[in-house]
Amino acid sequence: KPIVLSGCQPSGQLTLGNYVGALRQWVDMQDDNECLYMLVDMHAITVRQDPTALHNACLDGLALYVACGIDPSKSTIFMQSHVPQHAQLAWIMNCYTQMGELNRMTQFKDKSAKNITNINSGLYTYPALMAADILLYQAKQVPVGEDQKQHLELTRDVATRFNNAYGDVFTIPDPYIPEVGARIMSLQDPLKKMSKSDDNQNNFVGLLEDPKKISKKIKRAVTDSDEQARIYFNTSEKPGVSNLLSLLSCATGKPIADLVPEYEDKMYGHLKTDVADSIVAMLEPIQAKFTELRQDQTELNRIMASGAEKAQVRAQQTIDKVYEAIGFVASP
Ligand code: ATP
Ligand code: MG
Repeated sequence: KPIVLSGCQPSGQLTLGNYVGALRQWVDMQDDNECLYMLVDMHAITVRQDPTALHNACLDGLALYVACGIDPSKSTIFMQSHVPQHAQLAWIMNCYTQMGELNRMTQFKDKSAKNITNINSGLYTYPALMAADILLYQAKQVPVGEDQKQHLELTRDVATRFNNAYGDVFTIPDPYIPEVGARIMSLQDPLKKMSKSDDNQNNFVGLLEDPKKISKKIKRAVTDSDEQARIYFNTSEKPGVSNLLSLLSCATGKPIADLVPEYEDKMYGHLKTDVADSIVAMLEPIQAKFTELRQDQTELNRIMASGAEKAQVRAQQTIDKVYEAIGFVASP
């Protein structure tokens, strides 16, 4: 079976964007692939995190993965920091990634502009760690949102460069980006993407938020103030409305083209009510399952221990291969 790898940062509560852009695809891929899904705690510390909040976000994320439908008997679920091979390969990847390449990464530009008091080298070399995450498992498919496409391309470039120098060491991965929902936008500023680490809580919907609060946030979402308040899909003319239509499509499973005629003579308020209701309905079973599992620390421990063990075995095979290829002496 082809290998699939992906992860979310425990840098806050997972959002609708993370679910629709990434997690939902992870669930669908479980049967036909060998899937590895991690919480990338090492990536999360490229931005300053409160230790207690980070600790809780890791456990919340783990329970949420399962609540969303990632089945620990099918997929390998683990914490990135529990598999030390990520750090080992990341160092090597750093030595094969050019500064010129890192300078072009829009995520670094955005995040460093947002937080000018902590532009650390980990934030800068984030893509090298991400390349290591993927290449470590010889992953073929990487289900991500559109914002990660550029990092995936860098991973492919670095892996190709490495293979050209040393032979076929790495599988070259492909991004797997959904057609609808690949870039869910911020509710208050639909020109930027929804992000869990956004300072403004009204910009995102957390998967664990109270249904009433979710409805309120959706109903307050910025819509587009052109003369005729028509409802149609066009991300440049109607970014706010288009974002709501994408969310509705993801939550109901109906194609956007089928939804638009249903709102021909309706007002923004109607659309918002339907979006809010369908999202709440989609999240309700997830929240119920989460609440149950989050209280069962023994089960969470079991999941992450067995995940880390399985991941380490695979990861070590790649480390051995890489060390030999570059000329390191095998440890006797
Ligand atoms: P942060 O603000 O801390 O970077 P984030 O919301 O961007 O958090 P990540 O952990 O960086 O989330 O990304 C996890 C996955 O979710 C990635 O595959 C990413 O592409 C996807 N993703 C993130 N935001 C969105 C979005 N707005 N729409 C669709 N997919 C998204
Ligand atoms: Mg992100």
